[in-house]
Amino acid sequence: MVNSLKFRSSLEKETNTLAVIARSDFPTLKQTNQEGKPLIYLDHAATSQKPYQVLQVLDHYYKHDNANVHRGAHQLSSRATEAFESAREITAQFVGAKASSEIIFTRNASEAINLFTRCWGDLTIKAGDEILLTVMEHHSNLVPWQLLAARTNCLLRYVSITEDGQLDVEDFKAQLNERTKLVSLVHVSNTLGCINPVTLISQLAHSVGALVLVDACQSLAHLPINVKQLGADVLVGSAHKLCGPTGIGFLWASEYLLESLPPFLGGGEMIQDVFLSYSSWAKLPHKFEAGTPSIGEAIGMGAAISYLQHLGLNRIQEWEQILTEHLFTGLSQIRGLRILGPQFSQQTHRAALASFTLEDIHANDLAAFLDTTGICIRSGHHCTQPLHRHYGITSSARASLSFTTTLEEIDYFVQELTETVDFFRKHN
Ligand SMILES: *Cc1c(COP(=O)(O)O)cnc(C)c1O
Repeated sequence: MVNSLKFRSSLEKETNTLAVIARSDFPTLKQTNQEGKPLIYLDHAATSQKPYQVLQVLDHYYKHDNANVHRGAHQLSSRATEAFESAREITAQFVGAKASSEIIFTRNASEAINLFTRCWGDLTIKAGDEILLTVMEHHSNLVPWQLLAARTNCLLRYVSITEDGQLDVEDFKAQLNERTKLVSLVHVSNTLGCINPVTLISQLAHSVGALVLVDACQSLAHLPINVKQLGADVLVGSAHKLCGPTGIGFLWASEYLLESLPPFLGGGEMIQDVFLSYSSWAKLPHKFEAGTPSIGEAIGMGAAISYLQHLGLNRIQEWEQILTEHLFTGLSQIRGLRILGPQFSQQTHRAALASFTLEDIHANDLAAFLDTTGICIRSGHHCTQPLHRHYGITSSARASLSFTTTLEEIDYFVQELTETVDFFRKHN
Protein backbone atom coordinates (compact mmCIF):
# COMPACT_ATOMS: atom_id res chain seq x y z
CA MET A 1 0.00 0.00 0.00
CA VAL A 2 1.04 3.58 -0.58
CA ASN A 3 1.77 5.02 2.82
CA SER A 4 2.61 8.55 1.82
CA LEU A 5 -0.95 9.57 1.02
CA LYS A 6 -1.32 13.32 0.84
CA PHE A 7 -4.85 14.64 0.85
CA ARG A 8 -5.41 17.36 -1.71
CA SER A 9 -8.33 18.78 0.23
CA SER A 10 -10.16 18.37 3.51
CA LEU A 11 -13.01 16.87 1.49
CA GLU A 12 -10.68 14.14 0.29
CA LYS A 13 -9.63 13.44 3.83
CA GLU A 14 -13.23 13.24 5.02
CA THR A 15 -14.18 10.96 2.12
CA ASN A 16 -11.35 8.64 2.91
CA THR A 17 -12.34 8.44 6.55
CA LEU A 18 -15.91 7.54 5.57
CA ALA A 19 -14.66 4.86 3.17
CA VAL A 20 -12.46 3.33 5.84
CA ILE A 21 -15.41 3.18 8.26
CA ALA A 22 -17.85 1.78 5.68
CA ARG A 23 -15.47 -0.87 4.39
CA SER A 24 -15.19 -2.43 7.83
CA ASP A 25 -18.76 -3.70 7.18
CA PHE A 26 -17.55 -5.79 4.23
CA PRO A 27 -15.85 -9.09 5.14
CA THR A 28 -14.78 -9.89 1.56
CA LEU A 29 -12.75 -6.68 1.44
CA LYS A 30 -10.55 -7.83 4.32
CA GLN A 31 -8.68 -10.52 2.36
CA THR A 32 -5.13 -10.76 1.18
CA ASN A 33 -3.88 -12.85 -1.74
CA GLN A 34 -1.29 -15.65 -1.59
CA GLU A 35 1.55 -13.16 -1.49
CA GLY A 36 -0.12 -11.36 1.39
CA LYS A 37 -1.19 -8.40 -0.75
CA PRO A 38 -4.50 -6.86 0.23
CA LEU A 39 -7.44 -7.39 -2.06
CA ILE A 40 -8.29 -4.23 -4.02
CA TYR A 41 -11.74 -4.80 -5.43
CA LEU A 42 -12.39 -2.41 -8.32
CA ASP A 43 -15.17 -4.35 -10.00
CA HIS A 44 -18.21 -3.03 -8.13
CA ALA A 45 -20.07 -2.38 -11.41
CA ALA A 46 -20.07 -6.13 -12.17
CA THR A 47 -21.33 -6.99 -8.71
CA SER A 48 -21.03 -5.30 -5.36
CA GLN A 49 -19.70 -6.88 -2.18
CA LYS A 50 -22.13 -7.58 0.68
CA PRO A 51 -21.98 -6.00 4.13
CA TYR A 52 -22.51 -7.87 7.42
CA GLN A 53 -25.87 -6.11 7.71
CA VAL A 54 -27.09 -8.11 4.69
CA LEU A 55 -25.30 -11.37 5.54
CA GLN A 56 -26.77 -11.37 9.04
CA VAL A 57 -30.29 -10.89 7.72
CA LEU A 58 -29.85 -13.83 5.30
CA ASP A 59 -28.41 -15.94 8.11
CA HIS A 60 -31.26 -15.04 10.44
CA TYR A 61 -33.91 -15.78 7.83
CA TYR A 62 -32.56 -19.24 7.02
CA LYS A 63 -31.96 -20.11 10.68
CA HIS A 64 -35.20 -18.80 12.18
CA ASP A 65 -37.93 -17.90 9.71
CA ASN A 66 -37.50 -20.18 6.70
CA ALA A 67 -40.92 -21.04 5.26
CA ASN A 68 -42.86 -20.54 2.09
CA VAL A 69 -44.62 -17.19 1.81
CA HIS A 70 -48.32 -16.41 1.47
CA ARG A 71 -49.22 -20.01 2.40
CA GLY A 72 -50.06 -21.75 5.60
CA ALA A 73 -51.08 -20.13 8.83
CA HIS A 74 -48.12 -21.24 10.89
CA GLN A 75 -45.72 -18.92 12.66
CA LEU A 76 -42.77 -19.45 10.32
CA SER A 77 -44.83 -18.72 7.25
CA SER A 78 -46.29 -15.58 8.71
CA ARG A 79 -42.85 -14.30 9.78
CA ALA A 80 -41.37 -15.12 6.35
CA THR A 81 -44.29 -13.43 4.59
CA GLU A 82 -44.04 -10.37 6.77
CA ALA A 83 -40.31 -9.97 6.14
CA PHE A 84 -40.74 -10.64 2.42
CA GLU A 85 -43.51 -8.07 2.03
CA SER A 86 -41.65 -5.58 4.16
CA ALA A 87 -38.70 -5.88 1.72
CA ARG A 88 -41.13 -5.00 -1.04
CA GLU A 89 -42.24 -1.97 0.96
CA ILE A 90 -38.60 -0.87 1.45
CA THR A 91 -37.93 -1.26 -2.29
CA ALA A 92 -41.06 0.71 -3.18
CA GLN A 93 -40.14 3.54 -0.88
CA PHE A 94 -36.53 3.49 -2.16
CA VAL A 95 -37.56 4.29 -5.74
CA GLY A 96 -40.47 6.56 -4.82
CA ALA A 97 -43.27 4.16 -5.84
CA LYS A 98 -46.82 4.97 -4.79
CA ALA A 99 -47.49 1.51 -3.36
CA SER A 100 -45.58 -1.68 -2.69
CA SER A 101 -47.90 -3.49 -5.13
CA GLU A 102 -46.04 -1.62 -7.89
CA ILE A 103 -42.88 -3.62 -7.16
CA ILE A 104 -42.59 -6.98 -8.93
CA PHE A 105 -39.80 -9.18 -7.65
CA THR A 106 -37.80 -10.85 -10.42
CA ARG A 107 -34.56 -12.87 -10.53
CA ASN A 108 -32.58 -9.89 -11.78
CA ALA A 109 -32.84 -6.84 -14.05
CA SER A 110 -32.56 -9.00 -17.16
CA GLU A 111 -35.63 -10.96 -16.15
CA ALA A 112 -37.48 -7.73 -15.38
CA ILE A 113 -36.85 -6.43 -18.90
CA ASN A 114 -37.85 -9.79 -20.39
CA LEU A 115 -41.05 -9.66 -18.34
CA PHE A 116 -41.90 -6.28 -19.78
CA THR A 117 -41.08 -7.15 -23.39
CA ARG A 118 -43.26 -10.25 -23.05
CA CYS A 119 -46.22 -8.84 -21.13
CA TRP A 120 -46.37 -5.33 -22.53
CA GLY A 121 -44.55 -5.83 -25.83
CA ASP A 122 -46.54 -8.85 -27.03
CA LEU A 123 -49.80 -7.16 -26.04
CA THR A 124 -49.14 -3.71 -27.50
CA ILE A 125 -46.53 -3.80 -30.23
CA LYS A 126 -47.48 -4.24 -33.88
CA ALA A 127 -45.46 -4.41 -37.09
CA GLY A 128 -44.09 -0.96 -37.95
CA ASP A 129 -44.11 0.32 -34.36
CA GLU A 130 -40.78 1.64 -33.16
CA ILE A 131 -38.79 1.05 -29.99
CA LEU A 132 -36.02 3.55 -29.33
CA LEU A 133 -32.89 2.27 -27.58
CA THR A 134 -29.34 3.63 -27.39
CA VAL A 135 -26.04 2.20 -28.62
CA MET A 136 -24.72 2.23 -25.04
CA GLU A 137 -27.29 -0.28 -23.72
CA HIS A 138 -26.27 -3.34 -21.73
CA HIS A 139 -27.08 -6.57 -23.62
CA SER A 140 -29.91 -7.09 -21.09
CA ASN A 141 -31.62 -4.04 -22.52
CA LEU A 142 -30.96 -5.02 -26.14
CA VAL A 143 -31.54 -8.72 -26.65
CA PRO A 144 -35.08 -8.90 -25.15
CA TRP A 145 -36.10 -6.12 -27.55
CA GLN A 146 -34.51 -7.96 -30.46
CA LEU A 147 -36.59 -11.01 -29.51
CA LEU A 148 -39.70 -8.81 -29.40
CA ALA A 149 -38.83 -7.37 -32.81
CA ALA A 150 -38.49 -10.90 -34.21
CA ARG A 151 -41.95 -11.77 -32.84
CA THR A 152 -43.73 -8.59 -33.92
CA ASN A 153 -41.75 -7.04 -36.78
CA CYS A 154 -41.39 -3.78 -34.92
CA LEU A 155 -38.42 -1.57 -35.69
CA LEU A 156 -35.58 -1.03 -33.22
CA ARG A 157 -33.84 2.31 -33.49
CA TYR A 158 -30.66 3.32 -31.66
CA VAL A 159 -29.71 6.75 -30.38
CA SER A 160 -26.04 7.49 -30.91
CA ILE A 161 -23.51 9.07 -28.57
CA THR A 162 -21.65 12.34 -28.84
CA GLU A 163 -17.89 12.77 -29.44
CA ASP A 164 -17.35 13.13 -25.70
CA GLY A 165 -19.15 9.88 -24.91
CA GLN A 166 -22.58 11.01 -23.75
CA LEU A 167 -26.08 10.34 -25.00
CA ASP A 168 -26.72 12.41 -28.13
CA VAL A 169 -29.92 14.25 -27.19
CA GLU A 170 -30.18 15.88 -30.64
CA ASP A 171 -30.06 12.46 -32.28
CA PHE A 172 -32.68 11.28 -29.79
CA LYS A 173 -34.99 14.15 -30.80
CA ALA A 174 -34.39 13.38 -34.48
CA GLN A 175 -35.31 9.70 -34.10
CA LEU A 176 -38.29 10.13 -31.78
CA ASN A 177 -41.57 10.19 -33.72
CA GLU A 178 -45.23 9.28 -33.43
CA ARG A 179 -44.45 5.64 -34.24
CA THR A 180 -42.18 5.43 -31.18
CA LYS A 181 -44.04 3.33 -28.60
CA LEU A 182 -41.31 3.06 -26.00
CA VAL A 183 -37.88 4.43 -25.15
CA SER A 184 -35.70 2.09 -23.13
CA LEU A 185 -32.42 3.41 -21.81
CA VAL A 186 -29.79 3.02 -19.18
CA HIS A 187 -29.69 5.63 -16.42
CA VAL A 188 -25.95 5.32 -15.79
CA SER A 189 -23.87 3.53 -18.41
CA ASN A 190 -21.83 0.64 -17.00
CA THR A 191 -19.14 1.31 -19.62
CA LEU A 192 -19.16 5.06 -20.29
CA GLY A 193 -20.04 6.13 -16.76
CA CYS A 194 -22.22 8.92 -18.14
CA ILE A 195 -25.43 9.81 -16.30
CA ASN A 196 -28.20 10.14 -18.86
CA PRO A 197 -30.71 13.03 -18.71
CA VAL A 198 -33.64 10.71 -18.08
CA THR A 199 -36.04 13.44 -16.92
CA LEU A 200 -35.61 15.31 -20.21
CA ILE A 201 -35.83 12.10 -22.25
CA SER A 202 -39.09 11.17 -20.46
CA GLN A 203 -40.65 14.56 -21.17
CA LEU A 204 -39.80 14.30 -24.85
CA ALA A 205 -40.91 10.66 -25.08
CA HIS A 206 -44.23 11.39 -23.38
CA SER A 207 -44.88 14.25 -25.81
CA VAL A 208 -45.25 11.63 -28.58
CA GLY A 209 -47.09 9.19 -26.32
CA ALA A 210 -44.17 6.79 -25.84
CA LEU A 211 -43.43 5.02 -22.55
CA VAL A 212 -40.00 5.14 -20.90
CA LEU A 213 -38.21 2.17 -19.36
CA VAL A 214 -35.19 3.03 -17.21
CA ASP A 215 -32.42 0.51 -16.55
CA ALA A 216 -31.26 1.69 -13.14
CA CYS A 217 -28.76 -1.12 -12.45
CA GLN A 218 -25.80 1.25 -12.19
CA SER A 219 -27.54 4.15 -10.51
CA LEU A 220 -29.50 2.62 -7.62
CA ALA A 221 -26.46 2.22 -5.36
CA HIS A 222 -24.79 5.47 -6.37
CA LEU A 223 -27.31 8.31 -6.49
CA PRO A 224 -30.78 9.12 -5.19
CA ILE A 225 -33.54 7.82 -7.48
CA ASN A 226 -37.17 8.74 -7.73
CA VAL A 227 -39.36 7.32 -10.47
CA LYS A 228 -41.64 10.35 -10.44
CA GLN A 229 -38.79 12.81 -10.75
CA LEU A 230 -37.29 10.72 -13.58
CA GLY A 231 -40.67 10.57 -15.32
CA ALA A 232 -40.16 6.83 -15.79
CA ASP A 233 -43.01 4.45 -16.63
CA VAL A 234 -40.96 1.36 -15.84
CA LEU A 235 -37.75 0.99 -13.87
CA VAL A 236 -35.65 -2.12 -13.30
CA GLY A 237 -32.79 -3.03 -10.99
CA SER A 238 -30.74 -5.95 -9.62
CA ALA A 239 -30.01 -6.43 -5.92
CA HIS A 240 -26.50 -7.78 -6.44
CA LYS A 241 -25.37 -4.40 -7.82
CA LEU A 242 -26.57 -2.62 -4.67
CA CYS A 243 -24.89 -4.68 -1.94
CA GLY A 244 -27.68 -7.28 -1.94
CA PRO A 245 -27.76 -10.97 -2.86
CA THR A 246 -27.83 -12.48 -6.34
CA GLY A 247 -31.04 -14.04 -7.64
CA ILE A 248 -33.26 -11.08 -6.85
CA GLY A 249 -34.17 -7.93 -8.72
CA PHE A 250 -37.28 -5.95 -9.38
CA LEU A 251 -39.47 -4.16 -11.86
CA TRP A 252 -41.38 -1.05 -10.91
CA ALA A 253 -44.33 0.21 -12.94
CA SER A 254 -47.51 2.04 -12.03
CA GLU A 255 -50.44 -0.02 -10.81
CA TYR A 256 -52.43 1.26 -13.77
CA LEU A 257 -49.90 -0.06 -16.27
CA LEU A 258 -49.39 -3.37 -14.46
CA GLU A 259 -53.14 -3.96 -14.15
CA SER A 260 -53.47 -3.65 -17.94
CA LEU A 261 -50.97 -6.46 -18.61
CA PRO A 262 -51.40 -10.23 -18.77
CA PRO A 263 -49.29 -12.42 -16.47
CA PHE A 264 -45.68 -13.32 -17.31
CA LEU A 265 -45.12 -16.92 -16.17
CA GLY A 266 -47.82 -19.33 -14.98
CA GLY A 267 -47.77 -21.40 -11.80
CA GLY A 268 -48.46 -21.23 -8.10
CA GLU A 269 -48.67 -17.87 -6.29
CA MET A 270 -49.85 -15.96 -9.38
CA ILE A 271 -53.40 -17.37 -9.42
CA GLN A 272 -56.61 -16.61 -7.64
CA ASP A 273 -58.62 -19.71 -8.66
CA VAL A 274 -57.63 -22.62 -10.83
CA PHE A 275 -60.09 -24.84 -12.66
CA LEU A 276 -59.26 -27.54 -15.14
CA SER A 277 -60.35 -25.39 -18.05
CA TYR A 278 -59.21 -21.93 -16.94
CA SER A 279 -57.67 -19.89 -14.13
CA SER A 280 -58.01 -16.40 -12.76
CA TRP A 281 -55.09 -14.24 -11.69
CA ALA A 282 -53.98 -13.06 -8.30
CA LYS A 283 -53.96 -9.36 -7.48
CA LEU A 284 -50.86 -7.21 -7.98
CA PRO A 285 -48.01 -7.77 -7.47
CA HIS A 286 -48.49 -11.55 -7.18
CA LYS A 287 -49.94 -11.86 -10.69
CA PHE A 288 -46.38 -11.49 -12.01
CA GLU A 289 -44.65 -13.74 -9.49
CA ALA A 290 -45.18 -17.40 -10.40
CA GLY A 291 -43.78 -20.07 -8.13
CA THR A 292 -41.86 -19.85 -4.88
CA PRO A 293 -39.84 -16.63 -5.00
CA SER A 294 -36.30 -15.97 -3.75
CA ILE A 295 -37.59 -15.26 -0.26
CA GLY A 296 -34.38 -14.89 1.74
CA GLU A 297 -32.79 -12.99 -1.13
CA ALA A 298 -35.67 -10.51 -1.34
CA ILE A 299 -35.36 -9.93 2.39
CA GLY A 300 -31.61 -9.49 1.84
CA MET A 301 -32.30 -6.90 -0.86
CA GLY A 302 -34.44 -4.99 1.63
CA ALA A 303 -31.57 -5.07 4.12
CA ALA A 304 -29.13 -3.87 1.44
CA ILE A 305 -31.38 -0.95 0.54
CA SER A 306 -31.77 -0.02 4.21
CA TYR A 307 -27.99 -0.14 4.55
CA LEU A 308 -27.52 2.26 1.60
CA GLN A 309 -30.23 4.54 2.95
CA HIS A 310 -28.53 4.57 6.31
CA LEU A 311 -25.32 5.83 4.66
CA GLY A 312 -27.40 8.23 2.53
CA LEU A 313 -27.46 8.23 -1.25
CA ASN A 314 -26.69 11.93 -1.46
CA ARG A 315 -23.64 11.41 0.68
CA ILE A 316 -22.57 8.35 -1.31
CA GLN A 317 -22.83 10.35 -4.52
CA GLU A 318 -20.79 13.28 -3.21
CA TRP A 319 -18.21 10.94 -1.83
CA GLU A 320 -17.90 8.93 -5.05
CA GLN A 321 -17.43 12.15 -7.05
CA ILE A 322 -14.29 12.80 -5.06
CA LEU A 323 -13.06 9.25 -5.64
CA THR A 324 -13.82 9.60 -9.36
CA GLU A 325 -11.85 12.82 -9.63
CA HIS A 326 -8.93 11.15 -7.86
CA LEU A 327 -9.10 8.18 -10.23
CA PHE A 328 -9.23 10.40 -13.32
CA THR A 329 -6.31 12.51 -12.14
CA GLY A 330 -4.28 9.35 -11.62
CA LEU A 331 -5.19 7.73 -14.93
CA SER A 332 -4.48 10.94 -16.87
CA GLN A 333 -0.80 10.48 -16.01
CA ILE A 334 -0.52 7.24 -17.96
CA ARG A 335 0.68 7.86 -21.51
CA GLY A 336 -1.62 6.60 -24.25
CA LEU A 337 -4.47 5.67 -21.90
CA ARG A 338 -7.85 6.57 -23.34
CA ILE A 339 -10.95 6.69 -21.14
CA LEU A 340 -14.30 5.91 -22.75
CA GLY A 341 -17.13 8.30 -21.93
CA PRO A 342 -17.11 11.87 -20.66
CA GLN A 343 -14.09 13.38 -18.96
CA PHE A 344 -14.48 14.21 -15.29
CA SER A 345 -15.44 17.75 -14.41
CA GLN A 346 -17.26 19.36 -11.50
CA GLN A 347 -20.10 20.19 -13.90
CA THR A 348 -20.57 16.84 -15.64
CA HIS A 349 -21.34 14.42 -12.89
CA ARG A 350 -19.98 11.06 -13.78
CA ALA A 351 -20.33 7.61 -12.29
CA ALA A 352 -17.42 6.28 -10.28
CA LEU A 353 -15.94 4.07 -12.96
CA ALA A 354 -13.50 4.33 -15.82
CA SER A 355 -13.36 2.02 -18.83
CA PHE A 356 -10.13 2.54 -20.71
CA THR A 357 -7.96 1.24 -23.49
CA LEU A 358 -4.27 1.33 -24.29
CA GLU A 359 -3.58 0.95 -27.97
CA ASP A 360 -0.57 -1.32 -27.49
CA ILE A 361 -1.70 -3.53 -24.58
CA HIS A 362 -4.72 -5.84 -24.43
CA ALA A 363 -7.18 -5.27 -21.59
CA ASN A 364 -7.11 -8.97 -20.66
CA ASP A 365 -3.34 -8.83 -20.20
CA LEU A 366 -3.65 -5.80 -17.95
CA ALA A 367 -6.36 -7.40 -15.83
CA ALA A 368 -4.49 -10.70 -15.51
CA PHE A 369 -1.27 -8.94 -14.54
CA LEU A 370 -2.97 -6.66 -12.03
CA ASP A 371 -4.66 -9.66 -10.44
CA THR A 372 -1.25 -10.90 -9.30
CA THR A 373 -0.86 -7.64 -7.36
CA GLY A 374 -4.20 -8.15 -5.60
CA ILE A 375 -6.16 -5.77 -7.84
CA CYS A 376 -9.47 -6.92 -9.37
CA ILE A 377 -10.57 -5.02 -12.46
CA ARG A 378 -12.83 -6.06 -15.31
CA SER A 379 -11.70 -6.64 -18.87
CA GLY A 380 -13.79 -7.48 -21.91
CA HIS A 381 -16.85 -5.89 -23.47
CA HIS A 382 -18.79 -5.45 -20.18
CA CYS A 383 -21.98 -6.68 -21.92
CA THR A 384 -21.89 -3.67 -24.24
CA GLN A 385 -20.56 -5.13 -27.49
CA PRO A 386 -22.34 -2.67 -29.81
CA LEU A 387 -20.89 0.24 -27.83
CA HIS A 388 -17.37 -1.19 -28.10
CA ARG A 389 -17.92 -1.70 -31.83
CA HIS A 390 -19.00 1.94 -32.08
CA TYR A 391 -15.51 2.84 -30.85
CA GLY A 392 -13.89 0.30 -33.19
CA ILE A 393 -12.65 -1.84 -30.30
CA THR A 394 -13.55 -5.27 -28.98
CA SER A 395 -12.69 -4.81 -25.33
CA SER A 396 -11.62 -2.39 -22.63
CA ALA A 397 -10.41 -2.53 -19.06
CA ARG A 398 -12.67 -1.12 -16.37
CA ALA A 399 -12.07 0.02 -12.83
CA SER A 400 -15.31 0.63 -10.95
CA LEU A 401 -15.42 2.07 -7.46
CA SER A 402 -17.83 2.23 -4.55
CA PHE A 403 -18.13 4.17 -1.31
CA THR A 404 -15.80 1.57 0.24
CA THR A 405 -12.96 2.49 -2.10
CA THR A 406 -10.17 4.42 -0.42
CA LEU A 407 -7.86 6.98 -1.97
CA GLU A 408 -4.94 4.69 -1.07
CA GLU A 409 -6.50 1.93 -3.15
CA ILE A 410 -6.81 4.26 -6.12
CA ASP A 411 -3.20 5.40 -5.72
CA TYR A 412 -2.00 1.82 -5.45
CA PHE A 413 -4.02 0.86 -8.53
CA VAL A 414 -2.64 3.76 -10.59
CA GLN A 415 0.89 2.95 -9.46
CA GLU A 416 0.57 -0.76 -10.28
CA LEU A 417 -1.11 0.01 -13.60
CA THR A 418 1.71 2.40 -14.51
CA GLU A 419 4.30 -0.26 -13.71
CA THR A 420 2.36 -2.90 -15.64
CA VAL A 421 2.13 -0.64 -18.69
CA ASP A 422 5.88 0.11 -18.50
CA PHE A 423 6.61 -3.59 -18.20
CA PHE A 424 4.55 -4.51 -21.27
CA ARG A 425 6.05 -1.68 -23.30
CA LYS A 426 9.58 -2.78 -22.44
CA HIS A 427 8.91 -6.40 -23.33
CA ASN A 428 6.67 -6.07 -26.37
C1 LIG B 1 -25.65 -5.50 -14.60
C2 LIG B 1 -26.46 -4.72 -15.53
C3 LIG B 1 -27.61 -5.24 -16.12
C4 LIG B 1 -28.05 -6.65 -15.93
O1 LIG B 1 -28.21 -7.03 -14.62
P1 LIG B 1 -28.44 -8.57 -14.28
O2 LIG B 1 -28.38 -8.62 -12.82
O3 LIG B 1 -27.30 -9.33 -14.92
O4 LIG B 1 -29.73 -8.95 -14.87
C5 LIG B 1 -28.34 -4.43 -16.96
N1 LIG B 1 -27.98 -3.17 -17.18
C6 LIG B 1 -26.89 -2.63 -16.63
C7 LIG B 1 -26.54 -1.21 -16.91
C8 LIG B 1 -26.09 -3.37 -15.79
O5 LIG B 1 -25.00 -2.84 -15.26
